[in-house]
Amino acid sequence: MSQHDVVVIGAGPGGYVAAIRAAQLGMNAACIELEPALGGTCLRVGCIPSKALLESSHLYQHAKLHFADHGIATGELKVDLPAMLKRKDQIVGSLTKGIDGLFRKNKVTRYVGRGRIVAPGKVTVDGPEPVELNAKHIIIATGSQSAPLNGVEVDHDRIGTSTEALSYPEVPQHLVVIGAGVIGLELGCVWARLGAKVTVLEYLPRILPGMDNELATEAQKIFTKQGLEFRLGMRVVAAKVKDGQCLVECAESAPIACGRVLLAVGRTPNLAGLGLDDLKVTRDERGRVIVDDKFRTSVPGIYAIGDVLSGPMLAHKAEEEGMACVDGIAGGYCHVNYDAIPGVVYTEPEIASVGKTEEQLQQDEIPYRKGTFPFMANGRAKALGMTEGRVKILAHAETDRVLGVHILGPRAGDLIAEAAVAIEFGATAEDIARSSHAHPTLAECMKEAAMAVEGRAIHF
Ligand code: FAD
Ligand code: NAD
Repeated sequence: MSQHDVVVIGAGPGGYVAAIRAAQLGMNAACIELEPALGGTCLRVGCIPSKALLESSHLYQHAKLHFADHGIATGELKVDLPAMLKRKDQIVGSLTKGIDGLFRKNKVTRYVGRGRIVAPGKVTVDGPEPVELNAKHIIIATGSQSAPLNGVEVDHDRIGTSTEALSYPEVPQHLVVIGAGVIGLELGCVWARLGAKVTVLEYLPRILPGMDNELATEAQKIFTKQGLEFRLGMRVVAAKVKDGQCLVECAESAPIACGRVLLAVGRTPNLAGLGLDDLKVTRDERGRVIVDDKFRTSVPGIYAIGDVLSGPMLAHKAEEEGMACVDGIAGGYCHVNYDAIPGVVYTEPEIASVGKTEEQLQQDEIPYRKGTFPFMANGRAKALGMTEGRVKILAHAETDRVLGVHILGPRAGDLIAEAAVAIEFGATAEDIARSSHAHPTLAECMKEAAMAVEGRAIHF
C-alpha cells in the first residue's frame, strides 16, 4: 500500500493543477486518471480541440470572405478536413504529453485507472495495475460529461455530443444543434464556417442564458448574418436515427430531418462509482458535491473542486479552486473570488464577461452607471476589419467601483483580462479611464468605455 499526503482523483485542469501545487508545497502528491492522456475534458475533448477547430475554420472563412478586401487574391479555397482534424489532434497530443512532463518535473506520482474512495483516507485504483492508496487528504476532481436529454437517443455517431462534433469525418450537410449555450454556439460556428447548414434549437427565448442579455441579442443578429439559423422557444422532446437520417422532434412543431445532431444542453458531474453515497458525502439537488469555503466536503479529509461543484463549468475556475484547495490544506490563504472569474465564448466576434450583468444588478437593486464604446470607432478594429460589437462597463453609481464588464468584439477573450484584474483589485471606472492604453489597440475601447461611464468618451 502506497502512502501519500494528497491523492487527487481526476487529471483535468482542476486535478492536475492541484497535484502540482501540492508537490510544490512539499507534499507527497499523487494523481489518479482513468484516461491514458492527462489534461481532462479541457485538453482532450474540450477547450483545446474546440479552439483549434475554431481557429482553422475562422481562417478559412476569413480568407474566403475578407482577403479580397485586403487586396489579396486567392484561387478557389478548399477545406482539407483530414488535415484540419490532424492539426487539432497534434495540438491535443503535445499539450497532454506536456502534463506528463510537468508531473515528472514536480515529482507527482501518476496512477492509471479508476479511483474509488473506499473509506476516509483510503482510495483504490482499478486499472492495469490495481493498487490501494493511503492519503491524508483526498481531492475529488472528476469533472463532468454531457448531460443527456429525455427522448434524445445518443448513438455517439449521428446523434452525438461535443466529443463527436470535434471529429466529424465530413462536413455535415445539415447539423441540428440542441441548445444555444456555449458549446452549441462554438461548435455550431465551426461547422457553419466549413459549409454546413446549422440549425440551433433553444428552449429559452434567448441565446446564451446567464450572459449579458443586450450583448447576447446583438451577437445572435451577427451569427444569423453569418448563416446560423436560430429557432428559439423550441423544446426538443425526441431525436432518433431512422434509415440513416436523424429526426428531431420539438413540442408543438413539425419534426426536423437532418444528417447529424449535436446535443449540447449542459453537463453533469462525474461522480458515479466514486463511493460517495456510502461515505455520505453531501450533494445538492442536482447531484453536485457541496463544499465549504475551503473546498471541504461533509466528510473530513475529502475535498472537491472543479466541474463537480456548483458554479460555472470553466477550466480556469477549476484551476483556481485546485490551487486554493491545496493552499488551504497546507494552512495557507484559501479564497476564490468568483466575481472576478471571466467567461469567454470563442465565436467571431468573441463574447467575454466578468462580474455582474445588468440583469443581476437590476435584480439586486444595486445602482449603477453604464459606459459603452463601439469597436466601430476604434482605429485598430478598422485596420483588422473587425468592427462589430462594443465594450460595456458597469460601475457602482455612488462609488464608481467596477461591478461588471461585458465585451462583444474582436479578441474580447484577451481584452477581458484587464477587466478581471480591475475587479480583483477593486478598481473604479476612473482608474481604468486614467490608465494609459497603447495606440492603436483594441484595448483603447476599454479606456473609452470607462470614460463613457462619466459621459466623456473622446472618440464617440
Ligand atoms: P475535467 O476536465 O472533466 O477532468 C476530470 C478528469 O477526471 C477526466 O480526465 C476524467 O477522465 C477523470 N475521471 C473521472 N472519474 C474518474 C475516476 N473515478 N478515476 C480517475 N479519473 C477519473 N472551459 C473553459 O474555461 N474554456 C473553454 O474554452 C472551454 N471549452 C470547452 C469546450 C468543450 C467542447 C467542453 C466539453 C468543455 C469546455 N470547457 C471550457 C469546460 C472545461 O473543459 C471544464 O470546465 C474543465 O475541464 C473542468 O475541469 P475539471 O478538472 O473539473 O474536470
Ligand atoms: P449551457 O448550459 O451553456 O447551454 C445549454 C443550453 O441548452 C441552454 O441554453 C438551455 O436553455 C438549452 N436547453 C436545455 N434543455 C433544452 C431542450 N430540451 N431543448 C432545447 N434547448 C435546451 O451548456 P453547454 O453549451 O452544453 O456547455 C456546458 C458547459 O461547458 C457550460 O457550463 C460551459 O461553461 C462549458 N463550456 C465553456 C466553454 C467556454 O468557456 N468557452 C466552451 C464550451 C463549454
